[in-house]
Amino acid sequence: CKITRPPPTPSPLRFSKFFQANLRILVTGGAGFIGSHLVDKLMENEKNEVIVADNYFTGSKDNLKKWIGHPRFELIRHDVTEPLLVEVDQIYHLACPASPIFYKYNPVKTIKTNVMGTMNMLGLAKRVGARILLTSTSEVYGDPLEHPQTEEYWGNVNPIGVRSCYDEGKRVAETLMFDYHRQHGIEIRIARIFNTYGPRMNIDDGRVVSNFIAQALRGEPLTVQKPGTQTRSFCYVSDMVNGLIKLMEGPSTGPINIGNPGEFTMLELAENVKELINPEIELKMVENTPDDPRQRKPNITKAKEILGWEPKVTLREGLPLMEEDFRQRLAIPKKGAI
Ligand code: NAD
Ligand code: UDP
Ligand code: UDP
Repeated sequence: CKITRPPPTPSPLRFSKFFQANLRILVTGGAGFIGSHLVDKLMENEKNEVIVADNYFTGSKDNLKKWIGHPRFELIRHDVTEPLLVEVDQIYHLACPASPIFYKYNPVKTIKTNVMGTMNMLGLAKRVGARILLTSTSEVYGDPLEHPQTEEYWGNVNPIGVRSCYDEGKRVAETLMFDYHRQHGIEIRIARIFNTYGPRMNIDDGRVVSNFIAQALRGEPLTVQKPGTQTRSFCYVSDMVNGLIKLMEGPSTGPINIGNPGEFTMLELAENVKELINPEIELKMVENTPDDPRQRKPNITKAKEILGWEPKVTLREGLPLMEEDFRQRLAIPKKGAI
């Protein structure tokens, strides 16, 4: 690394032989949907100090408001495409827009975030000797020709399409992780996250579960993108966060699929949301976007065997929890509640 600076001054707490040192954890993208739930879970452990670095592109301080001012918490406005100097033991590297609307908005920035951002976090991990976990994605499998997807599958990805800034970006990020591991001995962990949903998703973030719930609550038709038979597997956010922490603490570099194998077509999802929120609502078939994967379902054998992890919350249990959060934020009370 070209940055030269004196070594960090050891804090009395961190190096005292009388106290067990706190674990200092950096969460990039910690103001986002999954990141803020991860921060909540990490902060529950009194031995953890958490630093969030986020540029607020798709995240918000609001997601972290309960921790602002807490002595074990620090929030930094920072873009990961720029170098970052902090002293930490672990890095959860989540910073990257995840919704197609946002990652396609400025594709060059998305690929910079994936490539330069991951390189900076690896440079940081190398300098301070931290363990680093990357939140990669099921999108690395592209429009998969193998179903369900195992970690051994190399994927079927268009390198020049409109989604490539995200899925090829994450593929390069995975390559960088393994090259720093092999070349510099960095301790790495790679999670391949499958579609995740839950409270605090951006209401207008364009992903399917948030779209359907917001539309149903507003009394608008549910926009099912054609043909509607494409499938996804939806993981509730608390399960996801538990999986990420188990992976960080566990023995394996990964990549490991973290997701819920329950598979639904978009038409089935729409029917579920309709039944839950408003049976009167209509479905509207609309045009799809290019390169939309036709099917997606994780094989989670590795997560079960290596991490002892599997999801607990079914879609039927998770959707009402998200409905409640969206009702509060949209100020739409439940029928009969007032
Ligand atoms: P999100 O958009 O809610 O959160 C991403 C966060 O990263 C936001 O707070 C955003 O402001 C921040 N960010 C973006 N670019 C940044 C930059 N250059 N510098 C600093 N901060 C930046 O998305 P999410 O759903 O919470 O996703 C978190 C991670 O999980 C992402 O890496 C995403 O690729 C991965 N992932 C998510 C899903 C999913 O279904 N939610 C699926 C697969 C992978
Ligand atoms: N980096 C960083 N924080 C650090 C150390 C490095 O952001 O604490 C950045 C650094 O600016 C560089 C990148 O990480 O762009 C990769 O660092 P590395 O040491 O691997 O490469 P070099 O600096 O030698 O090119
Ligand atoms: N989708 C849909 N209606 C919407 C938004 C998305 O039918 O309003 C479909 C989309 O075509 C895709 C699936 O839902 O097949 C999941 O899309 P999302 O953007 O949530 O996630 P990803 O494509 O990244 O899996």
